[in-house]
Amino acid sequence: MSNENFDRVSDCLHSQEVLNVLNEKNFAIKDKIKGMIAGNIIGDMLGLPLERKKGNISPYPPLNLKGDYISKIGEIWSDDTSMLIALATSLFETGGNVNPENERKHYLKWFLNGYYTLAGKSFGYGETTKQALLTGIAGNNRNTNGNGALMRSCILTAYYLDKTDRALEEASAASCAVTHGHPVSIFTNIIYNYILKQLIYGISLEDSMKMAQQKYSGVINDINEIFEKPVFYTTTAYCVTTLQTAIFVNLESTNFYEAVVKSANLGGDADTVAAVTGAIAGATYGFTEIYEPYRKAALKVISKFQALKIFFQEDLND
Ligand SMILES: [Mg+2]
Repeated sequence: MSNENFDRVSDCLHSQEVLNVLNEKNFAIKDKIKGMIAGNIIGDMLGLPLERKKGNISPYPPLNLKGDYISKIGEIWSDDTSMLIALATSLFETGGNVNPENERKHYLKWFLNGYYTLAGKSFGYGETTKQALLTGIAGNNRNTNGNGALMRSCILTAYYLDKTDRALEEASAASCAVTHGHPVSIFTNIIYNYILKQLIYGISLEDSMKMAQQKYSGVINDINEIFEKPVFYTTTAYCVTTLQTAIFVNLESTNFYEAVVKSANLGGDADTVAAVTGAIAGATYGFTEIYEPYRKAALKVISKFQALKIFFQEDLND
């Protein structure tokens, strides 16, 4: 099926779940859900030119945005946004319930056929994601704890906002394990979704992090690093340090722009670190607080995909 036909089929599948999520929410909650989704996309597009490069700013906190740094956003998005759209499309189809088989189907459409991309070809993916999609066996050892699930997972929080923490944990784990099955990956993903949920309900990042720490530290030692203030920011693709960097860059920033520009300019795995930082920042400040050129760049992507568009109907009327 062509992309166009697929979108037409998707249009017909009316997801009552997402309409419920949006209609029953007050403005602030809707705005934070939108900020989270747009923030993920903005971080990816902003960080992409800096991926695998040496950063423009020193990785030692406090981060300082002085001198040469990149803040201009492009139009190209990578695997982070493509996988987010694939997961959103799966949730849209299933009425908001994680279905690993359906999810995998959409990831394969992206990976093999270039769905959910700008140029019709998938790129940017890590080895764990590639192997999991090709073989059907998710990563399950210490070397498979990359950030490939974090880059797409924020949308789960939107669909499981009204459900129990337990339901969100199970959804986060099952979705993560489509590609990343090691406990370190799974618990990092769970903590990320849990923190995003608190942020959307208006709890500060500092308190959300403390709540997550109370709930999850001690489950496995490796994840405790998420809650420790870094001596210097790590921008490898390791899921634990990706979430740690995203949290602490946000904690030392006062608005969306500052957080996402700082994280992208750390370089390294800049697109994914900035995507996760952007999702957290968007859930903190809301869509309306995002720097306008970034908001417009995100809406341009969002307007192409029905499963994202449904969250932004009032912004896409003109
Ligand atoms: Mg990428």
